[in-house]
Amino acid sequence: SLPLHAVDPDVSAAVDAELRRQQSTLEMIASENFTPAAVMEAQGSVLTNKYAEGYPGRRYYGGCEHVDAVERLAVARVKDLFGAEAANVQPHSGAQANAAAMFALLEPGDTILGLDLAHGGHLTHGMRVNYSGKLYDVVPYHVRESDMRIDMDEVEQLALAHRPKLIVAGWSAYPRQLDFAAFRRIADAVGAYLMVDMAHFAGLVVAGLHPNPVPYADVVTTTTHKTLGGPRGGVILSRAGLAKKIDSAVFPGQQGGPLEHVVAAKAVAFKMAASEDFKERQRRTLEGARILAGRLLADDVAEAGITVLTGGTEVHLVLVDLRNSALDGRQAEDRLHRVGITVNRNAVPFDPRPPMISSGLRIGTPALATRGFGATEFREAADVVAQALKAERLDDERAGLLRDRVEKLAAAFPLYPHLSRPNG
Ligand code: PLP
Repeated sequence: SLPLHAVDPDVSAAVDAELRRQQSTLEMIASENFTPAAVMEAQGSVLTNKYAEGYPGRRYYGGCEHVDAVERLAVARVKDLFGAEAANVQPHSGAQANAAAMFALLEPGDTILGLDLAHGGHLTHGMRVNYSGKLYDVVPYHVRESDMRIDMDEVEQLALAHRPKLIVAGWSAYPRQLDFAAFRRIADAVGAYLMVDMAHFAGLVVAGLHPNPVPYADVVTTTTHKTLGGPRGGVILSRAGLAKKIDSAVFPGQQGGPLEHVVAAKAVAFKMAASEDFKERQRRTLEGARILAGRLLADDVAEAGITVLTGGTEVHLVLVDLRNSALDGRQAEDRLHRVGITVNRNAVPFDPRPPMISSGLRIGTPALATRGFGATEFREAADVVAQALKAERLDDERAGLLRDRVEKLAAAFPLYPHLSRPNG
């Protein structure tokens, strides 16, 4: 019953330092968010002790009555949020959810169509050394070089030529909404399943700010920790007719005991996502991304050879195009790090630089919206980003001034004040 700092001062110090990092910097990694205290409380609960292989009412272990209640709540709530016929809330992560969904629908060697990793797709959509690339015959589709938008004509041609068993729609780095009806038409034309991976934009869907893929797709996967703002984890939604296959693909196909403490945290997050507060936060998320895109499209930034892919955004992130800039992705990421803004570099489609260096940045607004940012604060943060990136040289004095502006913004929106320990 000793607290962490007494049992393990080393881990405790790292946790405290991470808390201070999150509190004092601006988190603009598009896939990150700040989970509410109630979600963390559920995740840190005694449910972590419980084995519960199986599903509510059909477990392979005794004593599951309370975790059954929790898992039933999570399933019912997520079905309601998205209007889905069936849900599996046990996948440990987004990658696990995708692996299980594919395991349910495909045999090794089957053909799948997915967005190329280098054009914004996820590893699990068919990257060569990922399970998806090793188990399945992958045909990647792309964005068009002219406007950097997904080329639905190419998707159709590839589908007709390769007759995939599964088409995956979804992305990790793409600033526009997808045309689910078009994907459905193409899938129907070749008799393929359509799987939508909405990991990034699920929160926007809940708020009605992005089309809902559920009516179009056979299977929809998501993470619960990005725009949804819940615990780290995955979910699979499906048509009722596929539910049995998917359940058995998750357990016993891919996983053993579910993480019921995380399932509990998912249930809490789904309840919170149904609130008006959550919708309002998603609106600020989108507004922030539009403000950021607008600032980075201004003339003073363009003069430094920097622009925004697709000329804007319809989602919670902006993709900065550095192909014509003296700065590469790594240098740009480092510059923002120096002023206290965390982002990740990202290859842009048709990137002339190698992936470890890259010519892009992915900058997202969900975490800052959760922190409470509105238009005024997003304008200030966007200007700091613009000033840091466009400067020919970012000397210590200039970086210090930008860092002061960041610290002021961070201080105005205290994060997890209840977790700060005196002298911690
Ligand atoms: N799917 C998409 C579209 C993602 O962007 C990600 C995460 O980056 C995942 C799946 C995988 O999620 P996880 O990191 O939880 O495995």
